[in-house]
Amino acid sequence: MTIRLFALDCGRVTGAANGFLEGESGTLTVPVPAYLIVHPQGCVVFDTGLNPGLRTDKAALLGKLDADWQIDFPQGAEIDAQLALAGVKPSDIRYVVNSHLHYDHCGGNAFFPDATLIVHAKEWRAAHRPNMQAAGIYNPRDFEHMASVRELEGEFDIFGDGTIVVFPTPGHTPGHQSLKVVTEAGAIVLAADCCYLKRTLDTLHLPAAVYKRDQMLESLHHIRALQSAGARIFFGHDSEFWNAIPKAPLPVI
Ligand SMILES: [Zn+2]
Repeated sequence: MTIRLFALDCGRVTGAANGFLEGESGTLTVPVPAYLIVHPQGCVVFDTGLNPGLRTDKAALLGKLDADWQIDFPQGAEIDAQLALAGVKPSDIRYVVNSHLHYDHCGGNAFFPDATLIVHAKEWRAAHRPNMQAAGIYNPRDFEHMASVRELEGEFDIFGDGTIVVFPTPGHTPGHQSLKVVTEAGAIVLAADCCYLKRTLDTLHLPAAVYKRDQMLESLHHIRALQSAGARIFFGHDSEFWNAIPKAPLPVI
């Protein structure tokens, strides 16, 4: 069975380095990755990049976080344009998996009204809390577009064949989840923000602000165990890693 994985280049964001690695000074500019997995039973998107509305309406979309982030979102970095590079239309996507519901991971959800959204139940609940929305941490304008939402409580094997498995990696947020993709060429773990950078995993250096530190460390140990078992880890926001892998239209595998 042939499975293809494409890395989609959805722009860059710049924020305080301390927000990625506690104690670091200055700012850090990081990529905004999303991924397409083409499986014989259908296409899956893991995260959807930035909301095109950020170009004209950033203050409203980010609310209290507006001043914290600079956005570099060139034409062609939208999720639909990135999918087109791989020859896929948004209507071809059967499942959208959101690692979590921060603005740089679900901003393109509106392109997929007919897909099923796969999100962790705890994330879905957190993202609907009025105090979290008032703080700018979550905005329903990013993620509230799917006719069908499947809320997970744990692992989920999307096609039932062990090739694309969603698993919980909480700590960054209440319901963060990662994705394991198993191919003939080996396993790849799309870690997303349970592991921002290679350094995060190598040194267990956490960001300054996390939902729960103990959960995040546990998730990092889980990712380390998968790495030890031979999986390649794809970090959430690591420029060096991102620059080194092929991007759509080229497949990673
Ligand atoms: Zn992120």
